[in-house]
Amino acid sequence: MRYAILGDVHSNLEALEAVLGALAGERIDHYVCVGDVVGYGADPKPCLDRIRDICDVVVAGNHDWAAAGVLSLEFFNEYAKAAIHWTREQLPAEDIAWLRDLPLQADVDRRTLLVHSTVHDPSAFDYLLTSYDAHLSMRVLKKPLCFVGHSHIPITFMERGGLGFTFADTIDLAKVEKVIVNPGSVGQPRDENPDAAYAIYDTVKRRVTLHRVPYDVTKAADKIRAAGLPRPLADRLHVGK
Ligand code: ZN
Repeated sequence: MRYAILGDVHSNLEALEAVLGALAGERIDHYVCVGDVVGYGADPKPCLDRIRDICDVVVAGNHDWAAAGVLSLEFFNEYAKAAIHWTREQLPAEDIAWLRDLPLQADVDRRTLLVHSTVHDPSAFDYLLTSYDAHLSMRVLKKPLCFVGHSHIPITFMERGGLGFTFADTIDLAKVEKVIVNPGSVGQPRDENPDAAYAIYDTVKRRVTLHRVPYDVTKAADKIRAAGLPRPLADRLHVGK
């Protein structure tokens, strides 16, 4: 079985289409999403439709729940807040309900968990970026493999005796006991590489691979400006920050 793992799409249709185009030749059996389908970008409705259509499992991101009114906006910065208010106006009630009903975490299969932020406190929407964050999540993770999103940084934490991390683009699951993989962000990469990010999990090869694909950043950024969304949300796409 081959899974495609998509995350942090953030209403960026150009990036999402580029990723789906790249995956079309990859013999993918199931698509799953680690959350933040909407927020920041100019195409919430088309991105939501595409993800709902193609993904078997989707978990809630903080922007998804904020757009649906589940999560308070008090911890969002001004740009994110403005985008959430704008996003709500673009979505019909049934889409808002779909976002609202997304689970905080979900099983992909017997061995694999999906959660947007952390395993140890998913509803707090903290970042899983340091070894200590990973330690807290590893302590409660019952499955050997977990995919997360939220930080928009592709990074893998693994347990093999002790806890380690890697930025390698191939993770051999046979060599590790437990792994938490962040595939990076489809629609708003923040690792100073503007290309859209995603991962493929191959259950037969016991391997996760991380991938990047270029997309039309200028078009996505122009749409953000044309929609009247905060300009820094457009500018950041060019530099992947
Ligand atoms: Zn996000």
